[in-house]
Amino acid sequence: MRVVAIDGPAGAGKSTIARAVAEALGLEVLNTGAMYRAVTYAVIMAGADSTDNQACTSAASAANIELSERVMLDGLDISDEIRGSLVTKEVSTVSAHPGVREVLVAKQRLWASQHGGAVVEGRDIGTVVFPDALVKVFLTASDAERARRRVIDEASAGREANFAEVEADLARRDAIDSGRSVSPLIEAQDALKLDSTTMTIDQVVETIVSEFLTREALQ
Ligand code: C5P
Repeated sequence: MRVVAIDGPAGAGKSTIARAVAEALGLEVLNTGAMYRAVTYAVIMAGADSTDNQACTSAASAANIELSERVMLDGLDISDEIRGSLVTKEVSTVSAHPGVREVLVAKQRLWASQHGGAVVEGRDIGTVVFPDALVKVFLTASDAERARRRVIDEASAGREANFAEVEADLARRDAIDSGRSVSPLIEAQDALKLDSTTMTIDQVVETIVSEFLTREALQ
């Protein structure tokens, strides 16, 4: 399967890079963070406790998530809701449950196989979901740069964002995502480590695309 795995902390630029790489390679993008956010939204709507593994796993199993340009949960467009502060605050807690991950990883593998491969972005794609991906990328950026980008994203989506609060939220999520016992955010051994603080978007995209094409030609 033609898979590019892109992992890294929040705000590293994964979505922007994934879209451009997918376009260059004629693939679709699977944003797995949107899936974890959709399940978190379902948990909140059900009034369930985000620390309850059983309740969160049931919500993940029951959720009918459709991903295209928009994110649909059980037929409802929740694209805007999943970016709000309520979901952002709880998503790393919900994502740490082994049962939630098991359900979503299965959905991610199925989605990619039904789409003839994909550029898949998340936290555990190269390590757990697609350990055989042709190219694995670990995308980083400095903490200040990641916070700066998030503030701009939030402002352009019409949401108010304060730099210090965004920076603290990113640090909090990174700590939970990197410290959890199941599928923590870690660099795959064979990942290409790219720092988007010092590289332009075009440079990052070109590096990934040319690596993919070289490896594909060797297959
Ligand atoms: O990518 P995004 O920042 O939208 O992801 C939201 C959260 O979803 C992350 O902070 C993380 O807790 C969780 N996530 C995950 N595994 C993935 C993708 C996202 O645990 N593959």
